Amino acid sequence: AKKGTAQNPYIITTDITYPPFEFQNDKKEYVGIDADIINAIAKDQGFEIEFRPLNFSAGLQALEANQVDGMISAMSINPEREESFDFSDPYYEAGTVMAISENNKEIQSYDDLNGKTVAVKVGTTGATFVEKLQEKYSIKVNQFEDSATMYQDVVSGHSDAVFDDYPVMAYAIQQGLKLQLPLEPEKGDVYGFAVNKGQNAELLDMFNTGLANIKEDGTYDNIIDQYLDSDE
Ligand code: GLN
Repeated sequence: AKKGTAQNPYIITTDITYPPFEFQNDKKEYVGIDADIINAIAKDQGFEIEFRPLNFSAGLQALEANQVDGMISAMSINPEREESFDFSDPYYEAGTVMAISENNKEIQSYDDLNGKTVAVKVGTTGATFVEKLQEKYSIKVNQFEDSATMYQDVVSGHSDAVFDDYPVMAYAIQQGLKLQLPLEPEKGDVYGFAVNKGQNAELLDMFNTGLANIKEDGTYDNIIDQYLDSDE
């Protein structure tokens, strides 16, 4: 069967739990900004998809090995990744931010991380940002495969700080996670839908056309408003 039909859907990987971009609802369906955007685009462009949730670094590997057709995972577009993947037009802007425990009064700047332990998620732009900080400061790094476990490492006091994308950290804190954000986020990256380099050009084209359509007809704004306060 032709790719993108019900018999042969495009396999799309997404982060396992990265609210508000992707998470499972009570009915065990994948929802969130990324999930709803690609579902709306698939409907607009008339193709079928199946989600294959994977930890972020496993998703990158699966895409590179052609085990999946595309990845929508709050994935920042950057030159390094563009060597391996083809990206869609940007669909969202967000930057990394530092979070510390709710009761921590000691860490107020990156300088204060000297001698401290920082939690990062493998393969992410947050992890790369901390690698750059390590050129200047003595920082011990604890690596995690998923954001929820990584946040708990700071809540429990095992790590002193964590770096992750601002909208995800802010959403988690709003939902009751006992962390705080002492600094402004770094300048925003933009997120893109990715395919393996030179593969699935048709899917990428349909994503871009569908994205333009759902922006124009208001679907995109409705999706964002459903998950985030409109003033953010
Ligand atoms: N935007 C970050 C990155 O691209 C984090 C993505 C994620 O954790 N799903 O590395």
